[in-house]
This record gives sequence, C-alpha cells and structure tokens, in this order.
Amino acid sequence: MARAALGWIDAELASLDAKGLRRSLEPLASAQGPVVTVGGRPLVNLCSNDYLGLAGDPRLRRAAAEAAEREGAGSGAARLVAGDLAVHGRLERALAAFEGTEAALLFGSGYHANAGVPAALVGRDDAVFSDVLNHASIIDGCLLSRAELLRYRHADVGELESLLAASRARRKLVVTDTIFGMDGDAAPLAEIADACERHGAMLYVDEAHATGVLGPNGAGLADALGLRDRVDVRMGTLGKALGSFGAHVAGERRLVQLLVSRARTFIFTTALPPAACGAALAALEVVRAEPERRARVHALAARAKAGLARLGFELPRVVAPILPVVLGGEARAVAASRALRERGYFVRAIRPPTVPRGTSRLRVALSASHTEAHVDGFLGALEEVLRELPPE
Ligand SMILES: *Cc1c(COP(=O)(O)O)cnc(C)c1O
Repeated sequence: MARAALGWIDAELASLDAKGLRRSLEPLASAQGPVVTVGGRPLVNLCSNDYLGLAGDPRLRRAAAEAAEREGAGSGAARLVAGDLAVHGRLERALAAFEGTEAALLFGSGYHANAGVPAALVGRDDAVFSDVLNHASIIDGCLLSRAELLRYRHADVGELESLLAASRARRKLVVTDTIFGMDGDAAPLAEIADACERHGAMLYVDEAHATGVLGPNGAGLADALGLRDRVDVRMGTLGKALGSFGAHVAGERRLVQLLVSRARTFIFTTALPPAACGAALAALEVVRAEPERRARVHALAARAKAGLARLGFELPRVVAPILPVVLGGEARAVAASRALRERGYFVRAIRPPTVPRGTSRLRVALSASHTEAHVDGFLGALEEVLRELPPE
C-alpha cells in the first residue's frame, strides 16, 4: 500500500534514472570468491575487495563457526554494557601485535570507525584537513565532529601545508586514506607526516585497502614506508583483505582509552558478533603465515596493469590491486560493465558520487585467488568491449 507522504520518492527515483545514477542490488547466488554466480551465470568477479581471497577460505569459515559455537551467534549488548566477550579482547591484542601498537580497539565496521573517531579527537574550536578523494565515511565523521573541515586537492601536500600554516585552530587533525579505493594510488604519507609534525597536527590514516595488502607484515602503507611511529591513529578494516567484518583503530593506549569513553560509534552500538572476530583472528594468522598471498595479488595486478597499458590505460600511480579504467560519462561506464558481463566478467560501473563527475569507471579489483587466465581473459574481453563502445 503506497503511503501518500512518500509520493515524492517516485520523482526522485525517476530523476536518478534519467541521470544514470540509479543504483541497484545484484544478488550473488554463491559465496564470495574469484568466480561468483550472478543472474544464474558464473562470472569472473573483478569487483570485490577480498584481496587475499580469504572471505571464502575454509579456515576462516571454520574459525567463524567455532567462535559462534563457543561464544554465541550475537554479542547481545554494547561492549561497555554486557557485550565485551573474550573473543573481542583476544582479537584486539592480536591486532595491536599485528599493527605494532600498544593497543587496538574494535569498531562495528570501517564506516563506524571513521564516522566516530574524528569527533572524539576534535570539536568546534578545531580543524580537520582532508584529502578531497577521502572515503565518504571520513567526510561524514569530519562533519559529525563539528570541527572546521578544510579539504585539500588530492595528494597535494603543498596545499595541505599552507592550510595548516594558516589555521588558528586549537587542535589540528589531518586525515587521509593511505590507498585511495577508487584509484589504487597511495597518499604521499612521508611528506604528510612531515607537514603534521611541522604544524603540530595529529595524523589519522585509513588503511582500509592496504591492511593485509601492503608492508612487509601486511600492516599497510605506513608499515611499507617505515612510518608506523609517525602516525597517531591507524584505522583498518577487517572486511576487505582480512575476509571478515568489522574494523579497528590502532595506536597508543591513551588514545584507545579516550575512544572507549568518547567515540559514539563505539559506545552506542552492539559489539561485533563472535563469528566475525573468530574469522578475523584466523585471517591474521594466514596473513602472517602466507606472505605469498600478498606477492601473488601484486603479481596479478602487475600483469593486469601491463595489459591495460597496452589498451591505452596507463596507471603509473597505482600501487594496490585496484585498477581504475576511467571511461568518463556514467552511460559509457554502465555500457562497458554490461558488455563485459555478457562476456563473463563481473565489474560494476562506479559513478558519482562515489567518484567525481566525468570520471565514471570500471574499478577492477584483483584477488590472490584469481588466475592468470582470469586476468588475460578479462583484458581480451575489455579490448573487444572498448572497440564497440561509443566515443565520449
Ligand atoms: C571500505 C572502506 C571503509 C569502510 O570500511 P567497512 O569496514 O567496509 O565499513 C572506510 N574507508 C575506506 C577508505 C574504505 O575503502
């Protein structure tokens, strides 16, 4: 029964359709993996963030099931009430060891972490400095903090530096993705850390696409660049390369203590279910014991990158297994995605507001569980599709 008060929604949806911005769900009839069943057909999956191929790993599945058997299906309460289960503490200690920090704190998801942590660190008299391409959850967290939000051009440390120099804010917080999820490029983290130290600013990095993927131990870009001690707040997600769900913030013990008392997205939400924590613990063990998975996904990405360069897509800044094939208009990206799907490849079109207008794209993401044949087959299919695609 259609409620009259919701009548405006029809026009809103029609307007999204007209602009090519209507989004829709695509149910998978299989588990997460390198090949998934969509619309009754097996498709090579090139749009998940399961970089190490762990989401479907039998060891994670078993660890999830065992944690649920032992500690329950749900955690039943917020951590600060009656939901602080043994598995939470065990996972936080493992994450702190992985990150090489004094402490770590679990959040419900990366979105929760980014939405809630800035407000615990800065407020009305303060300023946040954010790369324009930072993830939407960071923007939301900055807005919720009520601090002045100053956005600098993508990876432009010169502009960041002048904004920092001009600011009279009481406290300053610089926030950046380490790997930008829609472009696969890296933040100039050493230069950003220099700028923060010169201007007495705190540095908060979001390692969502780098956790498990970069660094000698897989702890992310700060780890890869030897900058772990120059970052104040390190956030990572358990939902991408670690194949589970949830997120963590790692840093000094006093930081974690403050977040426990101040981060509203930690305080006012039910604790992670044991299964997600059990799977994440198993994933950390795989990341430690099988560094070849990281090597494997980077080798596949290098192969795809070379192939894309032959098709005219040079991606010199890409350092992650994320390969943006920028096609321009929304309709063009959607047409390419559809044509690839007919050829057996699942790569969804990424459109505004996820990416800036005029840069709609196919975002190709690889996993350690893909094969060379998946990559080569995709490159062949893309070559055909590009030939058929109308010019901009
Ligand atoms: C995916 C992502 C998040 C959100 O993490 P979830 O655990 O999926 O909620 C935050 N930041 C960045 C940069 C991301 O790519």
